[in-house]
Amino acid sequence: MAIINDSITDPNKILPMKYLWARQHYKDGVNNNWTPEEVSMQKDVEQWKSNAVLGEKERRLILWNLGFFSTAESLTANNIVLAVYRQVTNPECRQYLLRQAFEEAIHTDCFIYCCDSLGLDPNYIFNMYKTIPSIKDKDDFVVELTKNVFDTNFSTKGIENTRKFIHDLVGYYVIMEGIFFYAGFAMMLALKRQNKMIGVGEQFEYIMRDESLHLAFGCDLINTIKTEYPEVWDKKFQKELVDLILKGVEFEKKYALDACPEGVLGINAQQFVEYVEYITDRRLERIGLPKQFDTENPFPWMSQSVDLSKEKNFFETRVTEYKTAGSLEW
Ligand code: FE
Ligand code: MN
Repeated sequence: MAIINDSITDPNKILPMKYLWARQHYKDGVNNNWTPEEVSMQKDVEQWKSNAVLGEKERRLILWNLGFFSTAESLTANNIVLAVYRQVTNPECRQYLLRQAFEEAIHTDCFIYCCDSLGLDPNYIFNMYKTIPSIKDKDDFVVELTKNVFDTNFSTKGIENTRKFIHDLVGYYVIMEGIFFYAGFAMMLALKRQNKMIGVGEQFEYIMRDESLHLAFGCDLINTIKTEYPEVWDKKFQKELVDLILKGVEFEKKYALDACPEGVLGINAQQFVEYVEYITDRRLERIGLPKQFDTENPFPWMSQSVDLSKEKNFFETRVTEYKTAGSLEW
């Protein structure tokens, strides 16, 4: 039985399981359950409405990130439900994909909640993926590179099609969720560290924790396909993927500089760029590709929240209430 291209797999028969990592990601996802309404936005509303706390630069950074994430979550959800789910017939992976789809719905809900509570114009925020070039470029890039897989006649049969599918997985899991989300995470968490927009910041923390699981699942899926279809993973294809990821990195750097042109809160804009390089190396290594930058992590404070694998007590506040059995070790 294989994870894709397998006619023996019965998608309805989950036991006995073959891919225990998928099951573990599912359980970790359940343990991380949260909803946006549990986070108070009262202080954020006060800060947003007053002129005393937030400068123009900070407002721009907040709007750009709400603008990017508000629609990026739907783009990823569509990819899971309309493309990935059809190709991955293995039942424990599908159980995880359903969980991930639910989490993306929660994330979209989070941006509805932020828009509502801050009194932002939803047409402005939810159209930024079309009207703001640095956001549009990122979204167009992943949509373009994954459009083969969206064709309802697409199948992963054969080396070339399996590669196209891996392209899709790299596009959404590694580039979108693994790179395009991270300049924004760093910016919003930096604000929160300064006690600015702490409600939005807390929600970004929850999203980031979910996203690091999505990324982990995506990388495990890619690595499993590599192991099961080693002929796909030749040097030429590896180079193609590295080039693709590097192209994505350029878009993310542009976005970071656009959202925060002169830096903010004592962080210069270049540090967000360095952070993007740092996390890109981690993503490359995770799927067995050579790192490209060797940049030092400019925000060591991010790593305790990003690296869920080391996560134990960082998210003490609310999360523990949801925890039932199981642990976060994987
Ligand atoms: Fe998400
Ligand atoms: Mn996600």
